[in-house]
Amino acid sequence: MQVLTGRCLCEGVAYEIRGELGPIFNCHCSNCRRWHGAAFRTRATIQASQFSWIRGEELLARHHSSEFVVKHFCRVCGSNLISTYDNDPARIGIPLGGLDQAPTNRPEGHIWVGSKAPWYEITDGLPEYETWPGSHAKVRETSSDPPRQVVTAPPAVHVGLAEALRKGPPPGGNLAVPIFARGSLVVALYTPEGTYPQKPHTRDEVYLVARGTAAFFDGERRTALEPGSFVFVAAGQPHRFEDFSSDFATWVFSYGPERGGSIP
Ligand SMILES: [Zn+2]
Ligand SMILES: [Zn+2]
Repeated sequence: MQVLTGRCLCEGVAYEIRGELGPIFNCHCSNCRRWHGAAFRTRATIQASQFSWIRGEELLARHHSSEFVVKHFCRVCGSNLISTYDNDPARIGIPLGGLDQAPTNRPEGHIWVGSKAPWYEITDGLPEYETWPGSHAKVRETSSDPPRQVVTAPPAVHVGLAEALRKGPPPGGNLAVPIFARGSLVVALYTPEGTYPQKPHTRDEVYLVARGTAAFFDGERRTALEPGSFVFVAAGQPHRFEDFSSDFATWVFSYGPERGGSIP
């Protein structure tokens, strides 16, 4: 197991870290720049259980640098030592500058680059993040946290109206052509013809008229629809389109839980 030690400038305070450091980042935020009197602070997070003071705990002074963050430093020589978090006491922030040995991992990026000192240029090619590296939690991650799922966002999807119309007619048993689905969301394109035999749906729906005109009947009232009209229909609510123009087409977005057709 990796054991690291560190100390302050006057050597009155010394500490030990057992085990790997969490991800290392260079933080360019103005707090870190001021605290370290440097272009950036190179830091990692560890579990509080990995950390112990070897000596000089009585020499520590503390400063709340923000609502939940406490900076601990040697009151004799002023060296910056650890950060603790009132809202996350199981973790400690460590600046790497005070370590006596090299840890096994290396910095993986620059954070808060939006606050970077204008006179300092980043030249190491590591990823640069305007603020947090994707999430605040990533900075507070330690080596004993379970590996984070790498979530790759799917590519954006674009379907033009003409393209969607070409996907028709609807597959057997459907009134609409399915275009897209993700999670509970199903997006389809309705192009009703003749009588419109629609029954109440089992999920909430939104219609967005793409082209043409129609009357929307909600069981009591009729409303005129035109391109761009928005209609929300709760699951179980009777409704249908009437008097639709021959080119009428509407997007329909079904989402959320199955409500079994009952009206809440
Ligand atoms: Zn000191
Ligand atoms: Zn910072």
